Order: sequence, then structure tokens, then C-alpha cells
Amino acid sequence: MKISIEGVRSFIPNGEIERLLEAGKNADASRIKEIIAKSLDKNRLNPDETAALISVKDRELRQLILEGAHELKERIYGNRIVLFAPLYVGNECINDCVYCGFRISNKDCHRATLSHDDLVAETKALVDVGHKRLIMVYGEHPMYSPEYIAETVQTVYATKHDNGEIRRVNINAAPLDIEGFRTVKASGIGTYQIFQETYHEESYNKLHPKGPKSSFLWRLDGLDRAMQAGIDDLGIGALMGLYDWRFEVMGLLYHTIHLEDRFGVGPHTISFPRIEAANGTDFTTHPPYQVSDEDFKLLVAILRLSVPYTGMILTAREPIAVRNEILRYGVSQIDAGSSIGVGDYAHKDDESKKKSQFVLGDTRSLDDVVFELAQGGYIPSFCTSCYRAGRTGEHFMEFAIPGFVKRFCTPNALLTFAEYLYDFSSERTLKVGLELIARESSQIEDQAMRISVLDKLQEMQAGKRDLYY
Ligand code: SAM
Ligand code: SF4
Repeated sequence: MKISIEGVRSFIPNGEIERLLEAGKNADASRIKEIIAKSLDKNRLNPDETAALISVKDRELRQLILEGAHELKERIYGNRIVLFAPLYVGNECINDCVYCGFRISNKDCHRATLSHDDLVAETKALVDVGHKRLIMVYGEHPMYSPEYIAETVQTVYATKHDNGEIRRVNINAAPLDIEGFRTVKASGIGTYQIFQETYHEESYNKLHPKGPKSSFLWRLDGLDRAMQAGIDDLGIGALMGLYDWRFEVMGLLYHTIHLEDRFGVGPHTISFPRIEAANGTDFTTHPPYQVSDEDFKLLVAILRLSVPYTGMILTAREPIAVRNEILRYGVSQIDAGSSIGVGDYAHKDDESKKKSQFVLGDTRSLDDVVFELAQGGYIPSFCTSCYRAGRTGEHFMEFAIPGFVKRFCTPNALLTFAEYLYDFSSERTLKVGLELIARESSQIEDQAMRISVLDKLQEMQAGKRDLYY
């Protein structure tokens, strides 16, 4: 792969961002209400509007932003939460990102890459607890070529075990060249996710001193190359704590607008991980711009309002209490039952921490997460139907097509949840889950749809699997 940034220019206007954040401080209550209303009317916000939300200091107005995000989620997306698990394939890395346990200079990192058999064992372990959606994660190393990534994806899809199989594989890996992206696309991936880490170029350069990732522009242009290779299902993200979160939220918005302007499609998902402690990585104990829980909640709500059409991903980096609360503000996907040490699902050992990129905040099992979601009135969804029916951009369709959630998402969430309950759940989850399904299915307004869902649920109880709309 040849790294070329010829002709690539940054679309992050630092000066303009600073100016808008400053000007945003002058927005009064009526302006903030107007901006929230615009988002609730299903419009993506403009940078000056997002900057105004970011600059709010008043407690009551902050509360209005949180409530606005909650209302948007309820109105457009309903009460489903899509579940997935990360699968770390290898932690070899030639970069030196100062915050990451996998960085090349971390002598305390136990290096590991799954063999074919290990990968099959990891996949079976995930399938056996009920997962259907994975994100496969790789360090950046010549070993993890596009062909290798494609091969590992195919291995996962080909691994069936008892009643289970992985039905959608997303990717989080280094940005590739266009040819490389084409190769990975051909393996049948869902979303390709790349985090810019920080949109502040000067900070980026300091924090990424070595390797291909040291080029800000190569990374910034990564999703453009993916689009050029025909992957239009893309995830963006920023690692919160490297620079001022206010700037990062603006960066995510400018990235969104850039993709919309250039390709007519915005990002499919937005991620907003906070830095977590990592083995052998002092930087993570005192990140320069640590984000408080209060600010974190607000930034999630602002992102929800700013780009109302994307999926929002909240990972198990966060502790349980934070996860439970922030679900309200527009999160659409969470990971559950996650292990992030390479090979940990099949064989957890004492070395696990040294094979991990960072330390997780939420280590509940998938079944515990499902139980608590159901108890809280959320429908845990393992749906992969859009991807498999060739409907790309599932979150965008949920947002843009009137009735889509009622016609596809809720019924599919109920069916995949039932499948999980019959095949994988504990007794207590089964009980709470079936009650939730009964309640939710009886509330389907369209009579024909309600009857059809109830029929399919019965077929499922009788042993049929993988039913979807
Ligand atoms: N090596 C590829 C790359 O850098 O794009 C794949 C991604 S890396 C394995 C996954 C993501 O984890 C990174 O993009 C970064 O945002 C995040 N990450 C790294 N160190 C972290 C830490 N200490 N705490 C939380 N997230 C971290
Ligand atoms: Fe390597 Fe990615 Fe970690 Fe950077 S964040 S050191 S590229 S695995």
C-alpha cells in the first residue's frame, strides 16, 4: 500500500470552528429552542447551530438539549437497542498512538494474532452466547493486509455452530488505499469504521508520532477512499480526551458535511469513545482533555441532535451507570458481553490484560445486559435484515422513510430478540423478555402487521429460526 496524500486538503476549518464556538456563546434561550426544534423536524444542524448548543452553560438550557435528544430518539427510532460484540483479531501494530496499549513502543503488550483455528474458536464462543453482529478489530501492521482482513471476515461468516451464526461483520481497522478497500468490501462487510481520534491537527501530530497513522491527512481522507471504493456504509468517531470535546464534536459535524457534500451520503454511525486506562500506558491516567460525565452526556445529546439520521454507538468502555443513563439520549447500538483481549472469548487467561488495548468499564455478560435492557423497557435487537436484504444504510432508512421503523425495525427487533430468548437466554431473561415481546407486539398499530408478527413469533416458538422482514 502506498500512502499518498497528493491533492488531499483538510476540510476541518480550525479558525472557523473557534469563531463559531465563540459566537455560539451569545445564543439566547429562544435561539437554542429553535435549533432543537429544527433537529426534531429531522434536519441536520449547521455548524453555527451545533456551536450554539455546545456553548450553552445554563443548566436549564442544557436540560432542554438532553430532553430534545431523548425526544428525537423516541420519535424517530423508538425503544430498540442493537447489540454487537467486538472481536479483536490481532494487536500487532507499527504505529505509536500514545494512548493505546497496542502501540509499537509498549514493551508490556503481549502480542498476539488469532490463527485460523483461534478465529473459529472465538467466533463459536460468540455465537454460543447468542451474538449475531460483530465488529472485527485489527492493529495496523503489514500482516493485516486487505486480503488478510477479507479472509478473516469470510472465516467468521462461514463458521456455523448449533443454531447460531454471525450474520453481520463490521470492521474497525486502519484506513486502506482504494484497492484495499475494494478487496475488503468484496468479503461482505457491513460498516467500515475509522476514528479520526482528534480533528485538531496539531494535537493529532503530537499524539501519533510514528508509522502510517502519523499522517493526519491520510487518515482524514480514509473514508473518502472507502467511498471511492464503493463502501458507503461508514462509521466516523473521535476519541474523547485528546483535545477539547467541543472542537471534536464540531470536527465530527464537518466530517459529516464533507461526506454529504462530496458523496451525497453522510456517515452511517458516529462513535464517541472516551479514553480508558490501558496497560503500560501512562498517558491514559491523565488525558489532557478528560471529559466529565456531565459533559459526556451533553456531547452525546448534541451529536444526536446535530446529525439526527446516524446510528450512535456507545461502547463498553463506559461504566454501567453511564451506559444506562446515556442510552436515553439517542444511542442506537451498544456492545455487550465484550472481551477485548485477543483470543479472550474462547480462552481467558492471566495474560488477558496485556493482550488488551484498554480496560473495559462494563464487563456484564450479554445475558445480563439483555436482561437489564428488557427490564428497562428497551427491545434488545440482533437484527441484520437490512444488510442481508441489500438495504444499505439501515439507520438512514429508519430516519428518512416514513413508517420504516414500524414496518421493519420493530418487527425484526422482536423476532431476533425472541430467537435469542429461545436459544440462548437464562430463565430470568426469558421471563422478562417474553413479557416485553407480548406487550410490544400487542401494540403494533397496523393490524395486518400485528397478525403477521404474531404468526412469525409462533413459528419461532415451534422451532423456526432466522425469520425477518
Ligand atoms: N488500529 C486501527 C486504528 O487505529 O484505526 C484500529 C482501531 S483501534 C484497535 C480501535 C480504536 O480504539 C482506536 O481508533 C481508538 O479510538 C480507540 N482506542 C485506542 N486506545 C484507547 C484507549 N486507551 N481508550 C479508549 N479507546 C482507545
Ligand atoms: Fe495501533 Fe490503532 Fe492502537 Fe494506534 S490505536 S497503536 S494504530 S491499534
